[in-house]
Amino acid sequence: MSEPLIEIKDLRVEFNVREGIVKAVDGFNLTINRGETVGVIGESGCGKSVTARAILNMVPKPGKVTSGEILYYRRSKENPSDGQSRTTDVLDLTKLDPDGETIRQVRGGEIGMIFQEPMSSLTPVYSVGTLINEAVSLHRLSPVKRVGAQITETIQTHRRVTKAEGRQIAIEMLRKVGIPKPNERVDSYPHQLSGGQRQRVMIAIALSCEPVMLIADEPTTALDVSIEAQILDIMRELQESSDMAILFITHNLGVVANMAHEIVVMYMGKAVERAKVQDLFYQPQHPYTRSLLQSIPKLGQKKSGERLASIAGSVPDPFHLPPGCVFHPRCPAFMPGRCDTITPQWTQVGDDHWASCLLYEEAGK
Ligand code: SF4
Repeated sequence: MSEPLIEIKDLRVEFNVREGIVKAVDGFNLTINRGETVGVIGESGCGKSVTARAILNMVPKPGKVTSGEILYYRRSKENPSDGQSRTTDVLDLTKLDPDGETIRQVRGGEIGMIFQEPMSSLTPVYSVGTLINEAVSLHRLSPVKRVGAQITETIQTHRRVTKAEGRQIAIEMLRKVGIPKPNERVDSYPHQLSGGQRQRVMIAIALSCEPVMLIADEPTTALDVSIEAQILDIMRELQESSDMAILFITHNLGVVANMAHEIVVMYMGKAVERAKVQDLFYQPQHPYTRSLLQSIPKLGQKKSGERLASIAGSVPDPFHLPPGCVFHPRCPAFMPGRCDTITPQWTQVGDDHWASCLLYEEAGK
């Protein structure tokens, strides 16, 4: 039976900058169950990564969670030998001191994370300095430390083990993520590894504390397709051998189709559609999701000279969002007088299938 691990309720995150206020996340809801993979997809700047950082209580300044809750159902450590039953505490991660002891136990220990390279994730609301500082605080690979020492440090931060035990766990983790000769590679510096191996080391660091959830934010974007396939296999295998949940954030629909049980589509800080993976790919309901799916190249379908479908128009200026449905200037199903005046509500469009679109409110579903 599904057991919730994280419940995001009406989350709002704003960036108050000189030019105005950007609503990076605008009333977002999501439940992530233990052992499940939820994919979050959408174009750059839609709020996917900011949501991930909000879970870890590390939204970069000048961003701020302005309302909503992120509830974490935290089990007490299970210890069958002492005969005590397991209890579950509920923590609102947004209310914790971002530098306090509790969030530091959760961040990196109970919730692991793999982020894309900071320099490839520049957005209009993050300064380069913020991204680099964030990289350091997220235990990204340091170029001047051996990879084994970096994994061991993470393990020792979250688990009571000696340095020698930490090193043994580090070697075992390198073996699990498919690094050849882990006994030797544990003493390598990051520059002595290939890009794919470095990303595997990052996965080893993220998983070394046996987290209950892994946040993977574009974890394979910088890798070639064969390495990407290997990394995804490793993540799937590791998930199957534990009860770990995965929040998989990507703009790559092909990747998420193979990884996720459920998918949430985001547009301009809001969820616009949510469904089981099969339903979303075979029966997309929201016009934005349909446009996204039509823009994926399909093997054997494109005749020579035929242009691939793309989403009309461009992402709106975040300081001046359109009224009504924010997708209306780009929507092929736009209804004048309605879509540009009424904000669509979350409507059930099938079993476990929801969309935020006036087409379905019209239909009375
Ligand atoms: Fe398109 Fe209107 Fe639905 Fe928005 S509400 S997605 S503009 S049909």
